[in-house]
Amino acid sequence: MLGAIEAGGTKFVLAVGETPDALAARHVIPTRAPSETLAEAAAWFAAQGGVEALGIGSFGPVELDRASDRWGFITNTPKPGWADCDIAGFFAKGLGVPVGFDTDVNAAALAEHRAAGGGAGSLAYLTIGTGIGGGVVLGGEAVHGIAHPEIGHIYPRRHPQDTEFAGICPHHGDCLEGLASGPAIFARWGKSLSDLPADHPAHAIIAEYVAQACHTLFASVAVEQVVIGGGVASTPGLVERIAERARALDAGYLPGGARHRVIRPRLGGDAGIVGAMLLAQGAAGA
Ligand code: ZN
Repeated sequence: MLGAIEAGGTKFVLAVGETPDALAARHVIPTRAPSETLAEAAAWFAAQGGVEALGIGSFGPVELDRASDRWGFITNTPKPGWADCDIAGFFAKGLGVPVGFDTDVNAAALAEHRAAGGGAGSLAYLTIGTGIGGGVVLGGEAVHGIAHPEIGHIYPRRHPQDTEFAGICPHHGDCLEGLASGPAIFARWGKSLSDLPADHPAHAIIAEYVAQACHTLFASVAVEQVVIGGGVASTPGLVERIAERARALDAGYLPGGARHRVIRPRLGGDAGIVGAMLLAQGAAGA
C-alpha cells in the first residue's frame, strides 16, 4: 500500500492505495499547528494498516536539494508555526518508510502529465487560488533548479485598465500573485471573480495576467500544455479566455505554437493527491 499527502495551507488530503490510479481510502483534515496536524495524519495512516512508502506534495517554499540536511523541510513560509518544519522527516521517522517529496504544484504537474497519457510531452501546472503556484514537467521529470520554480512571482506587464492597484504580494507588490490571486481580486473589487458579473472588466484583466504567465512558460521552457487549476480558475469561462489571450500574445511566433494548449485539469481536484501517490511510487522504487 502506498500513502499520499497533499499538504495545503488550509487542509491536508490523505490517501492510501495500491497504485496512483486506485485510491482505496482518502481523508481530509484541517491544517492546524504542525505537531497536531502531522500526528493526526500519521495516526490515520497507521489506522489504514500502514504504508510501504509515502509521497508528499506540499505547500512551500520547501527544500528539495537532496544534498541539504534540510531536504524535506517547509522553509520560510509566513504560515504561523510552519517555518522550518521537517515534514518529510517526521513521516520518514514516524512511519519508518521511504518518503517522496516535492511541491504540491510539481506533484499536480506530474499527475496531469501522466493523465495526458503521452499526449503531452511537457506540461506546466498553474494553480490560481489563495496564492499562485506552478510546477513544470519536462522529459517526465518535475523541474528543480537550485530550488523549485516560483512561477507565481514573475512580473507581468500591466493591463491598461489596471494601472492603479499596487498589488498585494508582501515581497514584490505587483507580481503575478500580487495581481491575480484570489486575495488580489478581492482587494480590488471586493468580491471573488466568480461573484463579479460576466461583463466586469476583472475577467479580462485576470485572464490577461494568467495568459502572460502561460506565454512565459511556452516561451521560456517550451512546454506543450499549461493546465490551470485552483479556485479562481473555476470561474466560468476564465480558462477559455486565458487560452484565447495566450494565443493572441504569441502572435504566431513560437515554434510548436500550433500544439500549445491551455486547459483545465484532466484530474479535476485530484491532481495534487494523485501526484503525491506518484511521489510515493517513486520513493518505493528508489
Ligand atoms: Zn511575489
